Amino acid sequence: MELTQRQPFGAEALENCAAALASGSLSSVNGPFTARLEEGFASFYGAAHAVAASSGTAALHTAVASLRLEPGTEVVVAPITDAGSVVPLLYEGLIPTFCDVDEHLAMTVEGVEAALTERTGAIMLVHLFGGVSDAAALRRFADERGLFLIEDCSQAHATQLGARPVGTFGHLGAFSMQQSKHMTSGDGGVVITDDDELAGRMRLFRDKGWDRSSPHARAYPHLGLNYRITELQSAVALPQLATLPAVVARRRAIAARLDEAVAQAPGAEVWTPPPGGPASYWCYPFYVAPERRDAVAAALREAGVPVTGGYIGAPIFECLAATHEQRTFGSSGHPFPLAGEGFSYADVAVPHARAALDRVVVVWIHEHLTDADTDAIAAAITEACNRGAA
Ligand SMILES: *Cc1c(COP(=O)(O)O)cnc(C)c1O
Repeated sequence: MELTQRQPFGAEALENCAAALASGSLSSVNGPFTARLEEGFASFYGAAHAVAASSGTAALHTAVASLRLEPGTEVVVAPITDAGSVVPLLYEGLIPTFCDVDEHLAMTVEGVEAALTERTGAIMLVHLFGGVSDAAALRRFADERGLFLIEDCSQAHATQLGARPVGTFGHLGAFSMQQSKHMTSGDGGVVITDDDELAGRMRLFRDKGWDRSSPHARAYPHLGLNYRITELQSAVALPQLATLPAVVARRRAIAARLDEAVAQAPGAEVWTPPPGGPASYWCYPFYVAPERRDAVAAALREAGVPVTGGYIGAPIFECLAATHEQRTFGSSGHPFPLAGEGFSYADVAVPHARAALDRVVVVWIHEHLTDADTDAIAAAITEACNRGAA
């Protein structure tokens, strides 16, 4: 089948890019589009501040760095996530530790609590696949324990827990605008926060630590990197804030249609998102038996449906040499020596996460799939599941 291609960039993005190019300056430092993107993002989410960066990973690094945690501090992360949730921690000298997820693939207070040690300083909550983890409960828990909560909303733009968007429950909420995300500038990222001090540090961090308001020509009061977004990225992203609710609504409608097909297909099972609010479906995951996962994925690909069997394949700490082999900076293994002798991920128990990865098939949906496309994908799912059925 030939599916309709995604076209997130409309006439306004093109006009904005033309204006940015005509201005002769693509730097975000004085450009209007990045300022407007940050204002628009903050107001969309009802946050006091939004700080844009060059990627989702850069945004997460910027968020993490603003906390000024002591090296060796542990941060509890979801076991099923992108490398971008984990790698920034290592660059800050922090130790990622992992908790299991529940049957909805959500992080829970119980799961996080089981992964806590006296060295834990923060929780990185990942709203996987656009499902809504209970960020309110996790924020209460974080406050009780004196921990920071960072929400990784890269897969959950414009997604609400009750009446409030995820990303506003944590001290910091980070979003990726990588190509596949609900809102995209090819690459790009944004962090939101209500905390003036964290926002100030993030503005320094993503600009090499440079305090441009200082009367001294070059004053760098904070260690930092150049994670600045460019005006072209912001010019492209800006108009998408207005269409984001429709993007999410369309992805939900597509997922609802596919749920019907999966519920009827032999040996297949729908993913039930966490109950706190409707998922925004960054992708469409469903389950089959582990021994049939790869055959079902292959049959779908053969039919022209873009899918990945098993999503990331294994818990993220087994995907990254930097965690499972502690292959980091030279031969130092830094920051792992700070975690105490014999620290290793070999015994981390995340049975729910592993079972889900063994069974999941991820369909790469997007908001421009037509009803006919969606019906064709549904039929292909039915056919692929029928093929292996006894
Ligand atoms: C996409 C993604 C990231 C990283 O974003 P990039 O923009 O690719 O750097 C981080 N976390 C999650 C959960 C993601 O899906």
